[in-house]
Amino acid sequence: MIVFKTYSQDELRFVKMDKSIDRQLLLEARDIMNILKIKVRSTLRFDGQIELSIKKGSHYLDASFNNNFGNDFLAEYDVNRVYKAPFLIITELCLNISNKTKDTTVFYYTRARETIVHELTHYLQASFDMTKVDPKSNLKGYISEPTEFEAFSVGAYYFLQHTNKNELTRIMGLNIGLTDKCKILINTFYKLIYPRIDYIFKV
Ligand SMILES: [Zn+2]
Repeated sequence: MIVFKTYSQDELRFVKMDKSIDRQLLLEARDIMNILKIKVRSTLRFDGQIELSIKKGSHYLDASFNNNFGNDFLAEYDVNRVYKAPFLIITELCLNISNKTKDTTVFYYTRARETIVHELTHYLQASFDMTKVDPKSNLKGYISEPTEFEAFSVGAYYFLQHTNKNELTRIMGLNIGLTDKCKILINTFYKLIYPRIDYIFKV
């Protein structure tokens, strides 16, 4: 369950969102992970409650998942790891669109919530690695890293589920392996949000 607290800092502030909706997002992320056979950590029950913080004044739809591992531990893969004080940072724009407190469309609403679903996947996933690739210089390499591939797959599935269910059904019904389906999901998602990008993966 996501909880919220007030936290006084200029840049970062914990604010209140509708709890039930966000629990729903967490459950949706988990359900999609199950469909895509992405392993969920079995140690979730030992975690502290996940909190949400807001980056004020940002005009980007952006989010990140944060834990309190020191840098020395970041490269360590451990499916039994526990997060005692996990938190998501999302931009104010992402929050406002996600809460519909700003003019929006189904497309941007779903995009904002997909951003959160992507980060919730990082929170839930058993796999763990430290991203070494810079997405600005090597987007495909970045998305190909195991943890990002999982999170992008879940995000793409979520986005299509809420914007183009027929296309999602078509992709999931293809007679190909799950990894290739995930690649097509990611390609389709990227094409929708960045029409100039033809594809990320060749399938
Ligand atoms: Zn990610």
